[in-house]
Amino acid sequence: MINNSKLAGLAIGAAVFLVPALRAQQAPNAAQDPGPQISVDGYTYTQRTLFQRNIGGPDDQTTQFPPHKIIGNIYYVGTNSLAVFLVVTPDGDILINSTYERNLPVIMKSVEQLGFKLSDTKILLGSHAHGDHQEGDALFKQATGAQVMAMAEDVPALEAMKPGGKTHPIDRVLHDGDEVTLGGSTLVAHLTPGHTRGCTTWAMKVQEGGKTYNVVIICSMGVNPGVKLVNNPDVPDLAAEFTRGFETMRSLPCDVPLGSHTGMYNMQEKYAKLEKGGPNPFIDPQGYKVEMDIDEAMFHAILTQQQKDAAAGPGSTESTR
Ligand SMILES: [Zn+2]
Repeated sequence: MINNSKLAGLAIGAAVFLVPALRAQQAPNAAQDPGPQISVDGYTYTQRTLFQRNIGGPDDQTTQFPPHKIIGNIYYVGTNSLAVFLVVTPDGDILINSTYERNLPVIMKSVEQLGFKLSDTKILLGSHAHGDHQEGDALFKQATGAQVMAMAEDVPALEAMKPGGKTHPIDRVLHDGDEVTLGGSTLVAHLTPGHTRGCTTWAMKVQEGGKTYNVVIICSMGVNPGVKLVNNPDVPDLAAEFTRGFETMRSLPCDVPLGSHTGMYNMQEKYAKLEKGGPNPFIDPQGYKVEMDIDEAMFHAILTQQQKDAAAGPGSTESTR
């Protein structure tokens, strides 16, 4: 156990060593290229605007969003754009996505505002091995003693993530379909690769008002600017991995879509509705389908563009997509 001021001190100390993890995900010349464009459900997106929708502005990744109950025993404790979920059980809590180390004080504040304690966190899970979702794992483990569990295919990328030189903790290696259970709540880890090799979509059943709902926390099916789907030396079958990921996403029953970025499930819009009362706005099976339609259409548009560029041969275009 550790007190709150010590927790905050850990986070402030760690901020000195911050790595701009998002930058590492982008090719240097991809910063301004809008990329392919798609239209789904009356909205138009480019690869750039979809990426931007997810991360928001720089402050959105660190600004506390009002913590709130989502459904059943699932609560929101993240920032404007980086989603953090708390599953509260009689035997302790499960936290999903530590995000950046510098967000620890904000997450702790949100947990406390809901009447819970961060030190009750027994298990720490993550969406995928990018810094904006899992950089804080080691710090969270130091602060809470939680067991960190991660999908096998993401372990190498996680182990390479060492903020301030800290070793990335991994207490249990998970495989596709594995269950994580605490205090009567069970989360199922679904491997939905592409965005990262071990990208993990979490599924859980919750009860509310005498009904059972399927909750799905979307890992991410986005292709970040600069990522090569064709002729990628690190992951030769990246397009095939994404395709498998979409197959799994489409097979999951979903009443309540959530995601690693709040834009994936229109959190801010739904929260505004929540404030007004009425039916739970987070129950939105159609929203899940639309999000998959957007991601899949964008994936195919990017793949087609990159295949064209590759067929045209080197030097024929400046695009690396
Ligand atoms: Zn990511």
